[in-house]
Amino acid sequence: CGIVGVIGNKNATDILLNGLEKLEYRGYDSAGIYVNNQKGKDFLVKEVGKISELENAVTSDVQGVVGIGHTRWATHGKPTVENAHPHFSEDNRFYLVHNGVITNYEELKNKYLSDFTFKSQTDTEVAVQLVDYFAKQGMDGESAFRKALSLIQGSYAFAMVDKEQPDRIFVAKNKSPLLIGLGDGFNVICSDAMAMLDQTHKFVEIHDGEVVILEKNSVSISKLDGTKVQRDPYTVNLDA
Ligand code: GLU
Repeated sequence: CGIVGVIGNKNATDILLNGLEKLEYRGYDSAGIYVNNQKGKDFLVKEVGKISELENAVTSDVQGVVGIGHTRWATHGKPTVENAHPHFSEDNRFYLVHNGVITNYEELKNKYLSDFTFKSQTDTEVAVQLVDYFAKQGMDGESAFRKALSLIQGSYAFAMVDKEQPDRIFVAKNKSPLLIGLGDGFNVICSDAMAMLDQTHKFVEIHDGEVVILEKNSVSISKLDGTKVQRDPYTVNLDA
């Protein structure tokens, strides 16, 4: 159960796979990555089992500059490829990884998503379809993400890419760990600094209830109500 993400002037695939290897110690049953090249091409690769099996399934054309990755420890739904993350909305617009448990997922599914087609048995898929539901009501990606967060209960670390706006990663957390790492011309996210020490030693905490918009050259943190948050980075002095 770990999350990684990257956006900027880097080979996203390499950074995600390297980061997921570093998170292996946390335990997991399946893993996956979503990569977007910001030129209209994107890739989703998911596998049950070891990161090495995911690496074998990642072909050389899987290249991009923005991406999210996940190791799953199944809580809702068996360890299968369909249940592995990233999950995506039914129209393939939003891609999302999640650590934690959404406690009210059944209620949300019944209330908002009776017309949606689900591909997995996870609580997580409800979150990404809910974002899509609000986008279909006319909200932009960020507003739809915030609206979904205001309804979701339980624990989560989320990272989401909106294919219509692949110059940013949407991030939020509640009771599950997640950090921002700052690079030169790129930024990363990770459940544990360990995953990204090869890329940076400069990190910024995210607190529960905050939303982060991560771009290659900027990190914008705010509360769910939109109030801006200012937070200084700290340096991790550890060897990778
Ligand atoms: N509850 C989610 C699932 O079962 C996420 C599990 C995790 O934290 O890896 O897919």
